[in-house]
Amino acid sequence: MEVNPFENAKKQLALVAEKMGLNPDIHKFLQSVERSLIVKIPIVMDDGHLEIFEGYRVQHSLVRGPGKGGVRFNPQVTLDEVKALAMWMTWKCSLHNLPLGGAKGGVCCDPKKLSKREIERITRRYTAEIISIIGPDKDIPAPDVGTGGEHMAWMMDVYSMQHGKTVPGVVTGKPIEIGGSPGRSGATGTGLFFVIERACEKMNIDLNGLTVTIQGYGKVGKKIVKLLSKRGCKILAVTDSRGGVYSENGLDVDKLLEWKEQGNSVRDFKGDSLKQITNEEIYTIKCDLIIPAAMENQVTEKNADQIDCKIIAEGANGPITLEADKILEKKGIVVLPDILANGGGVIVSYFEYVQDINAYYWDLERVNKELKKIILDAFENVYSIVKEKNISYRLAAYMIAVSRVARAIELRGIFP
Ligand code: GLU
Repeated sequence: MEVNPFENAKKQLALVAEKMGLNPDIHKFLQSVERSLIVKIPIVMDDGHLEIFEGYRVQHSLVRGPGKGGVRFNPQVTLDEVKALAMWMTWKCSLHNLPLGGAKGGVCCDPKKLSKREIERITRRYTAEIISIIGPDKDIPAPDVGTGGEHMAWMMDVYSMQHGKTVPGVVTGKPIEIGGSPGRSGATGTGLFFVIERACEKMNIDLNGLTVTIQGYGKVGKKIVKLLSKRGCKILAVTDSRGGVYSENGLDVDKLLEWKEQGNSVRDFKGDSLKQITNEEIYTIKCDLIIPAAMENQVTEKNADQIDCKIIAEGANGPITLEADKILEKKGIVVLPDILANGGGVIVSYFEYVQDINAYYWDLERVNKELKKIILDAFENVYSIVKEKNISYRLAAYMIAVSRVARAIELRGIFP
């Protein structure tokens, strides 16, 4: 990876600190993570040989509440990547005013090359290794890239077995049958849709006929494609990790989803006037809205100049580097930043945690109604600063998020 994500995250913080006149001591305090744990995960593979994996759990800030953040299974995972993601979780939870801090975890492995049994063993051993620093009142993991409900069920089981009781609140994103929340699996995409819809309203842009490209066709990509096309948008291009397809007439999204659900790559999807594209090429397509919904550092100073659209909504965490951000701003492209736009996942995770603790469960209607309220409240707060100070959405979102964390540090003071 060319750009170190943690360096990028720290630079972002430094920029905000300067713009908002943050107390230098608070800035110093927030620049580093509170705790990072590196664990060895020895696994006897299906064929009997031993493999050693490395896992991480990082807590950037617990000042506003227990840590919150996903667990990523991906070959790109490094300690610095997890640190950056943990810092972004601090800002995301703060921006949406959730009583939670920022954390993240990950295991460096390639799930595509592992059997289900091997993945289960990795998940269970990883949980056992980080068990002393997680818990409903300490740090609550959730799914992220490469993990889902199944992994959360195994994590909850390991934690519960070690504590001699069922503890559903130790992780979120669980299957509904064991304490998951309705609406959690699609929550990031649903929240993203609410934010895009409101942003377009403010900018007087009609969603009907809006042309969209999406990089990433995982949990977030699939959901947002569905919601936007239902609302009348024209989906011009979609890619997954292997590449994708483009059609100037718009893709048949129902057929595309069916194709993907059968275990195929969107790159091999066939249809009239379809063109195969790479993950680099998707950013050269002229459209109204681009949604990066894959990994970090996809838009850099190398390709930002080629981008021709009105809005970018960050479904992924950290898809745009700081340098690229400046180029996009000069071009007048509105960027709806990750901590605002993809907050739906952690917001519904928070609802799940609340439901687990109270042992009282909500229906989907309530979940979506409260999600909409929280994410749009954050949007409106950000929007009013964007207008008042004539700054980017990212800067405005960061100012709100960082100032809340700073205030919590000031109120609590530094121990001892
Ligand atoms: N992994 C998701 C994110 O990046 C969700 C985290 C959570 O639900 O705790 O926001």
